[in-house]
Amino acid sequence: MKYPRTVNRYCPTCRTHKKHNVSLYKKGKERMMNQGRRRVERKKKGYGSFPKEIFHRNAKLNKRSTPLLECSECGKKQYAKSYRIKRLELQEI
Ligand SMILES: [Zn+2]
Repeated sequence: MKYPRTVNRYCPTCRTHKKHNVSLYKKGKERMMNQGRRRVERKKKGYGSFPKEIFHRNAKLNKRSTPLLECSECGKKQYAKSYRIKRLELQEI
């Protein structure tokens, strides 16, 4: 799917429609010491064999890709509607 590099969208901070620059949202790196990770590690440590990681066959083929809109005036970022597609391309119109 193709998506424009700049879109005219409503900005909640400026309270009007403004030009937004589009980039693709990318997941940040997970910290190894966050609470959820620590909990999983502790649970996996022991007693019995249950809480092991089981490989489940991937049910979904496509990942969700989200355009990230940045207001050209105030610089606030907001997410646009995301799609489950193979590839999201940014292009000039
Ligand atoms: Zn704005």
